[in-house]
Amino acid sequence: MSLFCVAETTDFSALRAQLKQARAQGDLAKADQLASDYLRLATVVQDPLHLGMAHFQLGKNAMERNNYRIAKPELEQAVALLQPLGKSEALADALDRLGMTYRYQSDYANALKYLYQAMQIYRDLEDLESIASGYNNIGTVLEKMGQFEEALHAHQQSLELSYQLKDSDSIASTIFNLADLHRSLGDNDQALKYFLQTLEMDMASGNQRDIAYSHNKLGFLYSDLKDFDKARTHADRALTLFQQIGAKRDIEWARTVHAKLAMEQGDFAKAQQLLDQVIETAITQSYKSLLVDSYKMAAELSLRQGKAQAALSYIEPGIVQAQQNNERADEALLQQMRVDAYIRLDQVRDALQALQAQKQLEDDIFSNKKAAAIAAIQAQTEYTRQQYQISLLQNEQSLQQVRLEQSQLARNFWIFGLMAVFVLMISLYRRYLQSQQNRRLEQEVAARTSELKQKNTELQQAYQQLEVISLTDKLTGLYNRHFLESHIETELEQSRRRWQDWQSGKTSQPERAELAVFLIDLDHFKALNDNYGHYAGDEVLQHFSQKLQQVFRQSDYLVRWGGEEFLVIARSINREEAAPLAQRLVDTVQQELFPLSEAPPVAVSCSVGYACYPLPLGASPLHWESLLKLADLCLYAAKYSGRSGWVGLEAIKAETDLLPGVIAPGQLQLWHGEGQLQVQHSFARLNWLG
Ligand code: GH3
Ligand code: MG
Ligand code: MG
Repeated sequence: MSLFCVAETTDFSALRAQLKQARAQGDLAKADQLASDYLRLATVVQDPLHLGMAHFQLGKNAMERNNYRIAKPELEQAVALLQPLGKSEALADALDRLGMTYRYQSDYANALKYLYQAMQIYRDLEDLESIASGYNNIGTVLEKMGQFEEALHAHQQSLELSYQLKDSDSIASTIFNLADLHRSLGDNDQALKYFLQTLEMDMASGNQRDIAYSHNKLGFLYSDLKDFDKARTHADRALTLFQQIGAKRDIEWARTVHAKLAMEQGDFAKAQQLLDQVIETAITQSYKSLLVDSYKMAAELSLRQGKAQAALSYIEPGIVQAQQNNERADEALLQQMRVDAYIRLDQVRDALQALQAQKQLEDDIFSNKKAAAIAAIQAQTEYTRQQYQISLLQNEQSLQQVRLEQSQLARNFWIFGLMAVFVLMISLYRRYLQSQQNRRLEQEVAARTSELKQKNTELQQAYQQLEVISLTDKLTGLYNRHFLESHIETELEQSRRRWQDWQSGKTSQPERAELAVFLIDLDHFKALNDNYGHYAGDEVLQHFSQKLQQVFRQSDYLVRWGGEEFLVIARSINREEAAPLAQRLVDTVQQELFPLSEAPPVAVSCSVGYACYPLPLGASPLHWESLLKLADLCLYAAKYSGRSGWVGLEAIKAETDLLPGVIAPGQLQLWHGEGQLQVQHSFARLNWLG
């Protein structure tokens, strides 16, 4: 048996080493073959650790090909298999890669979440090498979010650790990221020095992908510095290597560098042709970050040729995409180009407006986003603190358990001892003594039992608290109420401020300064549970949350509000956009049957109520509770009007203070009748009351 285990262990670790080597050499076909072998072996021994690692390897291979849609479920499965086994390097690695998958899909909030979780484990395990690379990864995410100072800080931490460890791979990748940061900050000389250093280190280590990355960056930089021969050599090398590896997104990315080179050399037609091609692929393949980059470059290309109108046609979608990706620095750059374009077109008003938007954005980056990042880190710290307390309580609980068992043992021992004495002496006096002793010991047992109960209650409470502090819902992975409650006031305040600045004449009418609160409830969900069981119900809820993600933007807040009720805050919209969104949600849910694992697919529908913010009121601003109440009444109206549809409130003329108590279905019906409400809905006939 033990020989068998040794053989298995050796096989697995040898396989992992081969996998690593195959990936480093860019031989992904081989890496896939090895990963399937790994999965097969792990399935044979049914060991969750190796099963988890097998999915991890499959995920890593997919990442190498930039195929994050495949990578994500593999890595999620790895995390699910490894998590119950406790903190381990394998779990941390899976969390780390999952974080990076989110990063490459431009979902930076989730990226940070998983990267910090991984980092926590690496710290517990005192794995300095991984801590260094963790800092590095976090730095690149912060950079994308436009938080340059924090990014620089993270990279420096990483570099310090890597030097301490004399880990040349890690030093190379940190310097690469620092170089990129310097490039973003406009310090080309420093960036060039660093990239040349990383290329040298990558060549020494032989990792083809890293070598390609360094070449690509050098191609871009030398183009910028007008050293065209060197630029071409590096750009060509990068493209060839990416093609050999078969990294589809990176190939496109290398093409943007060729476009940059053509642009700097004045070959505008060629640059245009390359960029058109990249933009098309980026759209169809959903390479969101690359799309922003290529829009940016295409806009610059148009501006250089004096085609301001054409530039705007790249700038506008570029801004929307950058907003969706939460890439604030790129958004600011595009806004700046927008100002340029309008000035060239002599559209002074538009230019001023764009300038204002740019300034607003820069203010936002430095105030709100910083605050949000600090809040995220605080939440993280609090979570860790709670987990630590739980582990203390668990230790204490097991100590109490041991004490209880000891007292029980002592009691039994004494009972038997005294009974023997009783039989021997048949003495009343002794009998009296025995009962005394017994009572004392029983009291002790009772005391221990109640202490244990007390500890159990404390543990239970600590778990509940942890639940509250966690910001996401377990079943669907969407945000929970706690998250929304800690964010909503800032969100409303921001929207209200921009609105009021306009109303008081400080600024011109803001674009997309409004938001909408959608409350969504699944129709006849109880019947679905009754017919197919609770598990099927859960599956539908999970599937439904995916539909929500399809319909709404990444920057919107998706919240599981409770049971089969969801809440969505659509941010930065104009209120006219809310109705089409609601219709799209209702259609998307109805379009296809929902698959169930243990029953045939089922039809699902939902009802939606929404309210926009700010509602243009004469009197005071609306409270969050009132806004929620309005959305809720709209949802009820949708239910009463026949379900599978939506009702939304866009504006209200009432002069009263809209406290939650004032808002009742009868009142809304009355106001509606008097023409005081601007209501949209999808029904033939609207019923406010049931
Ligand atoms: P309506 O169209 O009026 O909304 O009908 P309904 O049946 O959906 O309404 P109701 O609110 O009466 O029922 C909601 C049901 O959702 C009750 C409960 O059994 C079920 N439910 C709530 N939370 C969960 C959950 O987490 N999982 C599952 N499977 N069911 C849940
Ligand atoms: Mg309900
Ligand atoms: Mg329902």
